[in-house]
Amino acid sequence: MPFSKLQLAAPILKAVNLCGYAAPTPIQEQAIPKALAGQDLIATAQTGTGKTAAFMLPALQRLTVPSACIKRSKGPRVLVLTPTRELANQVTDAVRIYGKFMRVRSGAILGGMPYFEQQRLLSQPVDIIVATPGRLMDHMERGRIDFSRLELLVLDEADRMLDMGFSEAVDTIAAATPASRQTMMFTATMDNAMAKLAQRLLRNPERVEIAGKKTTLEAIEQRLHAADDMQHKNRLLKHLIGDAGMTRAIIFSGTKKNADQLATELHAQGHSAAALHGDMSQFARNKTIMNMRRGRIRLLVATDVAARGLDVTGITHVINYDLPKNAEDYVHRIGRTGRAGATGIAISFASGKEVDALRSIERYIGQSIPQSVIPGLEPARPLRRSGGSSMPASGKRWQGSSAGKRPAQNAFGRNAYGSRPDRKPNTENKFSRDDQRSFKQDGGRAGDFRKTRPARQSRWA
Ligand code: AMP
Repeated sequence: MPFSKLQLAAPILKAVNLCGYAAPTPIQEQAIPKALAGQDLIATAQTGTGKTAAFMLPALQRLTVPSACIKRSKGPRVLVLTPTRELANQVTDAVRIYGKFMRVRSGAILGGMPYFEQQRLLSQPVDIIVATPGRLMDHMERGRIDFSRLELLVLDEADRMLDMGFSEAVDTIAAATPASRQTMMFTATMDNAMAKLAQRLLRNPERVEIAGKKTTLEAIEQRLHAADDMQHKNRLLKHLIGDAGMTRAIIFSGTKKNADQLATELHAQGHSAAALHGDMSQFARNKTIMNMRRGRIRLLVATDVAARGLDVTGITHVINYDLPKNAEDYVHRIGRTGRAGATGIAISFASGKEVDALRSIERYIGQSIPQSVIPGLEPARPLRRSGGSSMPASGKRWQGSSAGKRPAQNAFGRNAYGSRPDRKPNTENKFSRDDQRSFKQDGGRAGDFRKTRPARQSRWA
């Protein structure tokens, strides 16, 4: 189906054409007509599927006609809530890109950014606000936002917002908006908590669900390396980053401290590397992402703050230096590669201590991650992977560059997530109230509060 069949206004179609999109992605094809009809919507879709345009194009369509609100108000007509600042920035970029040929006043309300600019934004008429819940609540408590002409509320990555403890904030924000609003909820997963949220906030929602999670990973080659300890991980990493086919990679670290340390050491070794985590100012985070986009950074060492929403094209590899504690995060992390029709490689290191995390990831993705061995860097001990028995390496030996060797596949059509009955309870949100508060204001990740081990002398021993 061509975009022209979607009944979108000419300036929106013009902007979409400029993006070079040949046709709507499955989520767009299914969600846009329902959204344009004004229906509430629950869409089960992951980043990388084109979900942003699925809600942004109908949002912009609303702005092609004047507000029907009789009350004079400067408040937003569209509000998009996102769990993280990175995602909010990307949604804000989408407003600019898809609204290029319209006069749209938009802005972001994010933690970690100066208040005065946001106050200025809110003191003027605004059409679209993209916000993280913590900072938006701050402004609401100070009486700075008038939602009386709000027509559309979008909850982007709603499951993650709940995981991050924003459930109450989302309810409060929704309660401050007109009951007549349209509500669209985008989530990677559907479980009880999500169903309850939908029940509270949506009216007779239409459901849009695209292909299951297993097929989503088809564009990504996954590999596992058993690692004896941190030194072994470092040797593996050193070998892997020597691959010339690795043009842009994200290396995920379990803690902010280790991310900093690893980035510093990689930089000292002559690699263009930088860290990205929730302790950095928003300015520094934006600058780092920009440098990655411009190709000035080849190796980005990140905590999970970057796993959601980060949309940098051309990421050839994702390396899980530490496995995520939460199985969902694995999928989000590796989804940074293999985006928008490209293929990618996801390499995970797993030490004996991470076997439980590995098991839950494999259960979640419904497949066993093939184990690879680099000659000369074999683990001293095999990884005890399933049911207590040690699973031998697959025998697949990977010795060098492989980015781009796999046949090109189009991720769209497969790059979508389905319901997930086996969702594990979130065990990450075990941090103090103070932590949670500053984390909420920061828009950071729960996992970033985990206590770190004392740093070792050198990672590369
Ligand atoms: P999202 O899932 O919204 O994060 O989008 C993932 C990527 O897909 C972004 O880089 C978009 O520019 C791109 N994209 C969105 N819609 C389309 C489309 N219809 N055709 C090709 N690429 C698209």
